[in-house]
Amino acid sequence: MENVIIIGTGPAGYTAAIYAARADLNPLILTGTQPGGQLTTTTDVENFPGFPEGITGPELMISMQQQAERFGTRVEFGLVESVNKNDDGTFTLKVGEKELQTKSVIICSGASARYLGLPGEEELTKGGHGLTACATCDGAFYRDVPVCVIGGGDSACEEATFLTKFASKVYLIHRRDELRASKIMAQRALNHEKIELIWNSTIKEYLTNDKGDIRAVLLEDTQNGSTSELEVEGVFMAIGHTPNSGFLNGLVEADDQGYILQKHGTRTSVEGIYAAGDISDTEYRQAITAAGQGCAAAIEVERWLADQE
Ligand code: NAP
Repeated sequence: MENVIIIGTGPAGYTAAIYAARADLNPLILTGTQPGGQLTTTTDVENFPGFPEGITGPELMISMQQQAERFGTRVEFGLVESVNKNDDGTFTLKVGEKELQTKSVIICSGASARYLGLPGEEELTKGGHGLTACATCDGAFYRDVPVCVIGGGDSACEEATFLTKFASKVYLIHRRDELRASKIMAQRALNHEKIELIWNSTIKEYLTNDKGDIRAVLLEDTQNGSTSELEVEGVFMAIGHTPNSGFLNGLVEADDQGYILQKHGTRTSVEGIYAAGDISDTEYRQAITAAGQGCAAAIEVERWLADQE
């Protein structure tokens, strides 16, 4: 019987592990299919405090793992398929062929940015070749060059507005002729002199140079199917995120999109289950905010376990 199993190895998970391990809870952390989480798909991280020269996403995540292991965290590769509450209030996690028993669970399984599903997206994202889903993380690498943002929601408008600080021009490409974003966010984007809306359009293909970096996109008109080339060096995806909460099968209360609802601090609707990071966050989605929540969750678990004794 474990004291606590942490699901997911992004900043929330590893921070929860560091705190739980230092509280002598001997935590087990399960990696999921993407060990290190979303940050392993970015290049330089310049906004995580403590690294004045910046650090790459993969390096940051390896450091977090090492720090968690230094205090005795056990890191295991494994994808949780289900979580069930037992009659005595403990939990059974199904991970492949194994069934794990634990007194408490911290869910840090994160959310995945949606992409268009076009060929080449994986290589373009991983290598820092011009495709990303995080303006806050990567915007500063696109100084004085044209970029585009895909989407019509609050994220797209916010990202486009943020990118005007760096880029020479920001094209906001939306598949319809009306933004989904709230009025205030939409107006801010529509009124900005550096932002140009391209309505009724979507990307059909990423066009790259001989280094494999994006040099342009092939746009498709969603109404008449005509195509045209648009020169941009950065493409920022803002078509929403999918929270990785499907394996819970409704055990824990979530919003209509699947983001787990936190009841008080990081507590969820089920006693003994806590949630931290992007799995519960539709607003900030930053490594540092996730890490902060991971810390809070571990402290809350420690107190809750002590109360159970
Ligand atoms: P969202 O509201 O779901 O918007 C996603 C956008 O992407 C929509 O405009 C959608 O087009 C478009 N889209 C989806 N799939 C697409 C595809 N395959 N191809 C092209 N376009 C596609 O997502 P979000 O903007 O990330 O916002 C999520 C939540 O967070 C919202 O509740 C939002 O209000 C909130 N949020 C708030 C703030 C803030 O207040 N500061 C900032 C960011 C987000 P359609 O419109 O045609 O469906």
